[in-house]
Amino acid sequence: MDMFEKLKILTDAAKYDASCSSSGTDRGAGGSVGSAAACGICHSWSADGRCISLLKVLYTNYCEFDCAFCINRKSNDVKRTAFTPRELADLTIDFYKRNYIEGLFLSSGVIKNADYTMELIIEAIRILRYEYGFNGYIHSKVIPGTSPELVEAIGLLADRVSVNIEMPSAESLARVAPDKSKAKILTPMRAIQSRKEQATQELALYRHAPKFAPAGQSTQMIVGASEESDLHILRLTQGLYDKYKLKRVYFSAYIPVNNDRNLPALDTKPPLLREHRLYQADWLLRFTNSVQRNCWMMNIQCSMNFSTPNATGH
Ligand code: SF4
Repeated sequence: MDMFEKLKILTDAAKYDASCSSSGTDRGAGGSVGSAAACGICHSWSADGRCISLLKVLYTNYCEFDCAFCINRKSNDVKRTAFTPRELADLTIDFYKRNYIEGLFLSSGVIKNADYTMELIIEAIRILRYEYGFNGYIHSKVIPGTSPELVEAIGLLADRVSVNIEMPSAESLARVAPDKSKAKILTPMRAIQSRKEQATQELALYRHAPKFAPAGQSTQMIVGASEESDLHILRLTQGLYDKYKLKRVYFSAYIPVNNDRNLPALDTKPPLLREHRLYQADWLLRFTNSVQRNCWMMNIQCSMNFSTPNATGH
């Protein structure tokens, strides 16, 4: 398979990940210039407020896991491919030199197991950083179940790292993503948080101490594929900000791509308005103080109690 075809498959497969800000619409007109629908380049915000373009791609869409909501799950019959570490590094640096992108957003399916896949990703980013001297922004996913040594290695190479929490509760996760577990997700999340705190202390003492994930960590949660309420999701989000010091929690409206009895039907519309409202509430969580937060969380609780129908439907 040539590089163009690999790129087409692996950028298309990456479009469902919402944890870097990106959007696209299909205007449907042929014969004109430009496309707002094609995948591959997305946008994110740097620490100084600039909007930067990122190559958004999977390392591979082969996957050993069988997450019910994912187009790349192992039980789906889709065309599969993978880069080699050098192919991905070459592609990124070529795009950078042509001024197509300023950074990389890298996610992946799972080849063999979490550690084997992370080693390939780390090697690709190592080539970029140390052989090609690429100093641009890199956001890398960390696969649930990754060992602490590899979490350490990726945190020293990437600017931002993220472990996707996927579902709002352990029960929903067990139902739709049986290969993942709360422990496999929260353990690397905790390791990132502790190592980042250690790096911050070291930097205060030694100017040249290595930086660890300087742009912090984020996560992504699918909304509308399970029955948890908005209040439950917001409480979980607040818990993630408090306990794991996440920079952002991204919400992704559930898009039906598979016919699976554990998920809403294929003709279900993605709950985009709900996603939007959660982002508004998330803004309040991040930018208001704890007294204000408790107050409006109680308001949500009261309005939910008030609007919950009783046995007669009133
Ligand atoms: S681990 Fe799950 S969500 Fe990730 S690519 Fe594999 S099937 Fe999809």
